[in-house]
Amino acid sequence: MSTATLTIDLGAVVANWRALAQIAQVETAAVVKADAYGLDAARVSQHLAAAGARRFFVAAAEEGVALRRTLGPGPRIGVFSGHMAGDAEKIAGADLEPMINSVDQMLRHVEALPGHPFGLQLDTGMNRLGMEPAEWSALRDIALAQNPTLIMSHLACADDPDHPMNARQRRMFDDLTQGVDVPRSLSATGGTLLGSAFHYDMVRPGVGLYGGLPFVDAQPVVTLDIPVIQIREVTTGETVGYANSWTAPRPARIATVSAGYADGLIRAMGDGATMTHSGRKVPVVGRVSMDLITVDVTDLEGNPESLQLIGAHQSVDTVAEFAGTIGYEILTALGSRYTRTWKT
Ligand SMILES: *Cc1c(COP(=O)(O)O)cnc(C)c1O
Repeated sequence: MSTATLTIDLGAVVANWRALAQIAQVETAAVVKADAYGLDAARVSQHLAAAGARRFFVAAAEEGVALRRTLGPGPRIGVFSGHMAGDAEKIAGADLEPMINSVDQMLRHVEALPGHPFGLQLDTGMNRLGMEPAEWSALRDIALAQNPTLIMSHLACADDPDHPMNARQRRMFDDLTQGVDVPRSLSATGGTLLGSAFHYDMVRPGVGLYGGLPFVDAQPVVTLDIPVIQIREVTTGETVGYANSWTAPRPARIATVSAGYADGLIRAMGDGATMTHSGRKVPVVGRVSMDLITVDVTDLEGNPESLQLIGAHQSVDTVAEFAGTIGYEILTALGSRYTRTWKT
């Protein structure tokens, strides 16, 4: 087999969901946007639903329609982008709950689908989605009269527990929802780990389910094994890869493995990146190319048939650090050429 194997541990996803629910002690939804962060929203959601998850969130109505087909009636599916123009049929047909982000969306929703369930998203300082406080105070009574199912907001700095923004956003959320008798939700994975003051009636973890930071105690979910195509010997002073970017400081054995930036292993992942073989680290040398990566395997005994990039010995976040990015981006970038297998 010449393509890399991406193994996704659905049992670990379920275990991570249960662990976060245990921490939160309130309803724990599952965020499965972007195809469950690249890990297959259908399979992930089916397993979580079987384990007891009753509420899911996606970014866009189209994702919600696909998810409803998978899950059938019953579980609730929230849509973070709210009610966009042209979405009414999808929202009604797939029984989605849009998280209304503005007065315009509110008007659109009650006009197109009067009585259809919806939530409200408030901006508490991130300035990305949700109603501004002034907008909210103008709309509040009208919106509440329509019986929203949820009022939510999103934390900007929850991966940093010491950041003063966390408490600031929480106070603002409290102020904006004072005296309101509607279930509330403020926290994704990061906020779930900030303590009970951040849990309200529901938490909405995403990345923690998939084994990513800031959930340090997560079980690893993803393993990426990449086959070695060939191994060559180079002498001191020979160079490897595009732009001669690596020069052998000693006689070396270089393994060329079958994945590259077209598979989401971004080119920025250069200096300092490693792969592993039976737990032993081996350095990536030279530039990452479209379909290939070169690795110095001089210190391994024998010729490995494959090397591992992500797994028990180095996490998605470790790989993200090699590339100067975050685990979320590595997960969602994992390409379509991999042979995907799911374990339960
Ligand atoms: C993506 C997202 C989440 C999940 O965030 P994680 O950091 O992956 O846990 C929750 N709520 C909103 C509004 C989001 O956009």
